[in-house]
Amino acid sequence: MYELLKKDGRAKRGRFTTVHGVIETPVFMNVGTVAAIKGAVSTDDLRGIKTQVELSNTYHLHVRPGDEVVKKLGGLHKFMNWDKPILTDSGGFQVFSLAKLRKIKEEGVHFNSHIDGHKIFMGPEQSMQIQSNLASTIAMAFDECPSSVADRKYMTNSVERTTRWLKRCKEEMARLNSLPDTINPHQMLFGINQGGIYEDIRIAHAQQIAELNLDGYAVGGLAVGESHEEMYRILDAVVPQLPENKPTYLMGVGTPANILEAVDRGVDFFDCVYPSRNGRHGHVYTNHGKMNLFNAKYELDDRPIEEGCNCPACRSYSRAYIRHLLKAKEMLGMRLCVLHNLYFYNTMMEEIRDAIDAGEFQAYKKRKLEGMEQK
Ligand SMILES: [Zn+2]
Repeated sequence: MYELLKKDGRAKRGRFTTVHGVIETPVFMNVGTVAAIKGAVSTDDLRGIKTQVELSNTYHLHVRPGDEVVKKLGGLHKFMNWDKPILTDSGGFQVFSLAKLRKIKEEGVHFNSHIDGHKIFMGPEQSMQIQSNLASTIAMAFDECPSSVADRKYMTNSVERTTRWLKRCKEEMARLNSLPDTINPHQMLFGINQGGIYEDIRIAHAQQIAELNLDGYAVGGLAVGESHEEMYRILDAVVPQLPENKPTYLMGVGTPANILEAVDRGVDFFDCVYPSRNGRHGHVYTNHGKMNLFNAKYELDDRPIEEGCNCPACRSYSRAYIRHLLKAKEMLGMRLCVLHNLYFYNTMMEEIRDAIDAGEFQAYKKRKLEGMEQK
């Protein structure tokens, strides 16, 4: 259940209560694609860096180790030893971006696994079944992610099918949640708005899915190559069409600046691979801009990545040491950078929530953006 605690301009401060605990929003979900944050980060580590929600991937876990295996082991929470909320995406995005030789039909998508090429069929019912086996807190609806350059006709047909698929997802989840051997009978469903960069298609679709009284609503198919300005324009058009008393999730976004701009437009939930991916390459976020720790100027720099940062990397280690680890290809180097970056994102979300609570979001956003542009 979502409670809208406060508004500051269009920015929303909310509280989402789930069977696995409370999520304070706006929130950044930490991405663990195959049930692990890349960079040798464990769920025990997540407890020390303010992570509220872990996000795992339906398609990847279906291919390996198999959702039936995870179900036999008691579901994803038990498998990973994580008792807080988990969101699983529907697999739709991966089916459309990774899988080979796919065929889209009304019943779903036939495609070949990107691992070993074996044939897989996934439609709304299969995606819901897999997510029910994984027993995540929040399941995402199975949608088509059309190419952002798809023409109007294709986009209109695709979005209409996504709506029909969403209704099937809702029915199937209700059925699965009522079965006696379902691990999480309180699983929740978020619908996904699509429509590329066509504002009118997006708005009509948002109005249709808003009527289905789902637990939350996502905006999908953005941050796939369009400009930041286009993304903000779509958010300006779409977010007001989605129910204010439900969480709004902007999928796959983004940079700290993208998040600040989207919070300013009423978005509650975010996820992105940037902090972990950049961390694995020695790129770390600070309040004074991004740093590349491979840079020679850090060779003798005995300061932490960011002075005053309370993350596991900055509490104990210097830029010079982490640079050495990265150069020597020691896994600890990557790990420390990923921990710092996730801590940076999670702390920024905490600051955003405090700023909205205090009615000072605009001043905070300006200060944060100006600081990050320094380097
Ligand atoms: Zn740090």
